[in-house]
Amino acid sequence: MAEVAGEPHVLIFPFPAQGHVPTMLKLAELFLLAGLRITFINTERIHRRLLLNSPTLPPLARLPRFRFRTIPDGLPEDDRRASVPLQELEESIRTRSREPYRDLLAPAGRDPDEWPSVTCVVADGSLPLSWEVAEEVGIPVIFFRTSSACAFWAYYRIPDLIKGGEIPFPEEADWDEKVRGVPGMESFLRRRDLPSFCRNAKTTSDRGLQSVDNATASTRRARALILNTFESLEGPVLSHIRSAIPITYALGPLHLLVKTFENGGSFVTINSVRLSQEDRSCMTWLDSQPPRSVVYVSFGSVAVMSREELMEFWHGLVDSGERFLWVLRSDLVEGKTGEAVPAEAEGTRERGCIVGWAPQEEVLSHPAVGCFLTHSGWNSTLESVSAGVPMICWPCFADQQINSRFVSDVWRIGADMKDKCERSIVEKMVRDVMVRERAERLRTSAMEMAELARRSVAKGGSSYRDYWSLVEHIRAISSNGQQK
Ligand code: UDP
Repeated sequence: MAEVAGEPHVLIFPFPAQGHVPTMLKLAELFLLAGLRITFINTERIHRRLLLNSPTLPPLARLPRFRFRTIPDGLPEDDRRASVPLQELEESIRTRSREPYRDLLAPAGRDPDEWPSVTCVVADGSLPLSWEVAEEVGIPVIFFRTSSACAFWAYYRIPDLIKGGEIPFPEEADWDEKVRGVPGMESFLRRRDLPSFCRNAKTTSDRGLQSVDNATASTRRARALILNTFESLEGPVLSHIRSAIPITYALGPLHLLVKTFENGGSFVTINSVRLSQEDRSCMTWLDSQPPRSVVYVSFGSVAVMSREELMEFWHGLVDSGERFLWVLRSDLVEGKTGEAVPAEAEGTRERGCIVGWAPQEEVLSHPAVGCFLTHSGWNSTLESVSAGVPMICWPCFADQQINSRFVSDVWRIGADMKDKCERSIVEKMVRDVMVRERAERLRTSAMEMAELARRSVAKGGSSYRDYWSLVEHIRAISSNGQQK
């Protein structure tokens, strides 16, 4: 293929995990639509999993302006763990995959496909290597964060919280006390809503705190940022972020924005890219359930819980009397892989459907689903928001703590069960969100928010406009080699 001088060529490098790769592939699909050339980097391990589980991937890989490139993740080949701790994975990539990445970004010889040089890197903010090497070789970087704007902003302020003496928390701290150092959130953000590593840190040299502090220091240099959110959901927080990073694009919900273009006349649809094998039997089961009668339960792709916690959820759901569809990943229970359904569950099958991995976006759009019991990971939250389904949030770590606070106290589209895991609370929350008087209010707010999400991605909506501004930005930096 002949090289075109100054042609935009974007390299996209996501953190190798479910919450990141599919989201950044959606961005890649949108860029392709605008005529940009894309190199998409995966680690070898995650790429194998994607190919195994995503039938829509090969058509994408055959498009003339798109290519996948893979690099090793640095872990031993025989490492068969179903999930590697994220920090360990990040460290391994940072320390052992630098050279292969550099070779892809700025090859010493001619490009094997005779593609033009990379003119812009869209780097995952959770993967320092992705931007560090780009900066070393002088290629402009645009940061992408797969978290909510509210979580990004709280992370961004962590160095200030440390300086202001708000973290580490004092001994015997009251976790319900408000945090003062995150502008715009002073009236509702409590200590317990900060990411979990803030709770665990005893000193300012705590490893978790330091690693976020370092990542934030780099993000603070960002000249441009992309977030998967939308103005009507997080406008006030986006204004705060723009006071620090003026060029911030809010393109979300990306899975809906992709659909806007599909409606307008087809492309490859990669909304269904996934790292696990879907069990579609739950869709048939849902078809036979009454409208809004099912609690959909899923804790995302990496969260784990103890067996005791699992059983508290189980009993709470059964005691609530509601039907449920539960994604029981084989590695959901701490320290156990491949565990089947708990013995106690066998008697409740008529009211429950259990799968190992569900087609979540489709499930949430099904009329039988009445609420979503979730860990409040950002993709899950945004998918629920887009479908107008109220949530019960049981955040496990990191950004989920703050997402769930926004769900309950800012957007008022669900309940936050943070730090509680008792069957009586599960039962009460399910009843509150499914049947009691409060349920109607939550559902109305959730439906209104879903309508705003739809408008933001429609022609002329805020996310639609930001998408085209971003494409223009990339064209501009590609033709003059630097940030606008
Ligand atoms: N997901 C899915 N099927 C499942 C469980 C999860 O397709 O059974 C998808 C879900 O739609 C979401 C992603 O996995 O897009 C989970 O991302 P999230 O940010 O919510 O949480 P994480 O897994 O990163 O903690």
